[in-house]
Amino acid sequence: MIMDHMIPLAIPNFEGNERKYVDDAVDQGWVSTGGAYITRLEKQMEEFLGVPEVAACQSGTSALHLSLIDIGVVPGDMVIVPTLTFIAAVNPVRYCYADPIFMDCDDSLCMDPVKLRRFLETECEKGESGQTIYRKTGQVVKAIVVVHVFGNLADMEQICDIAVAYGLKVVEDATEALGSRFISGRYAGRYAGTLGDYGAYSFNGNKIITTGGGGAVTAKDPEAVRHLRYLSTQAKDDPHYYIHHEIGYNYRMTNVQAALGVAQMEELPSFIERKQKGYALYEQLLAGFPNARLIPFREGTESNKWFYSLLIDRDKVKAPIREIISELETRKIQTRAIWGLIHEQRPYAGSTVYEMEKAPYYSERVINLPCSTQITEEEIRYVAETVKAVLG
Ligand SMILES: *Cc1c(COP(=O)(O)O)cnc(C)c1O
Repeated sequence: MIMDHMIPLAIPNFEGNERKYVDDAVDQGWVSTGGAYITRLEKQMEEFLGVPEVAACQSGTSALHLSLIDIGVVPGDMVIVPTLTFIAAVNPVRYCYADPIFMDCDDSLCMDPVKLRRFLETECEKGESGQTIYRKTGQVVKAIVVVHVFGNLADMEQICDIAVAYGLKVVEDATEALGSRFISGRYAGRYAGTLGDYGAYSFNGNKIITTGGGGAVTAKDPEAVRHLRYLSTQAKDDPHYYIHHEIGYNYRMTNVQAALGVAQMEELPSFIERKQKGYALYEQLLAGFPNARLIPFREGTESNKWFYSLLIDRDKVKAPIREIISELETRKIQTRAIWGLIHEQRPYAGSTVYEMEKAPYYSERVINLPCSTQITEEEIRYVAETVKAVLG
């Protein structure tokens, strides 16, 4: 049997108040970077995340860039980043004319804290004013960008302890992990993006909530968030007489996007529940299949289960990933390979890379399965059956 329609990887869901709020924003004429929906979205996020201050901005990428600026990452500094992630997590380091240090992942696909510690212990030393210096080049290491890959939380207890010990700031790239939280340990009850010094969220089209394009940023220090909001609106010190004390950016979210966002935030708990249900059904249907298995989410957490990663056993399945993906496509199933490693991308040739083992392993073995919030049980059953047939 072949489906009569394509089952998409991940599409947005606008079953709530989206049209109503967007119409309202347009009717009022507030379509640009001012308007009530922007502050309303910020309030909603603050309440949901349990933090005092959130700033809505133009994208997840801009949220990350603003965080690095606020930390004071300057040309010639170094920032530790993952290699197995979307490149937007790393590019802001270059926007600051700083250099990335690429770190491996562990079996959660997130940054490996053991290698992170070993790198800092063996490759770095303390500078005269206490900064961490990369011995080989003499550059100052300022920060770590940690990505919660596919909604799976990184090992934040270890990573935050290491960061404190070495005086590094932690930027959480929570762009894929809105709503993921710890349920045990030191951070029990706390959400992705609220554990490090800064947290970035994205509302791009395939994220768990979307505003078309958009994002948000929070930080441990509410004053820092207010500073980021100021920078995101062209650093206006006196908006009527155009006085500016800093270099600002056009990084603010628009009110039309925020209108979508307010409606989407209303739906977030239901989206998370549907993502979790979809994952559980796949898990049940693929249980015992010897040639591939779903990658689990970290214990002690309740993940938003944004994306469902299938790990293919290369000893049993010889077909290249591209072939598997196109075979599934002809059977009306859209899947996607995991990312190409960032340290192998052209702009990052020659960068500092530390002990890569797992990232190359996973990058050749993982595909993501359809996971839209409106996917039906019938579609999931069809995908699971077909995956077993194609990889069988
Ligand atoms: C989506 C994403 C981003 C970028 O977010 P945008 O809103 O598209 O700028 C950054 N990092 C990761 C890991 C992402 O998945």
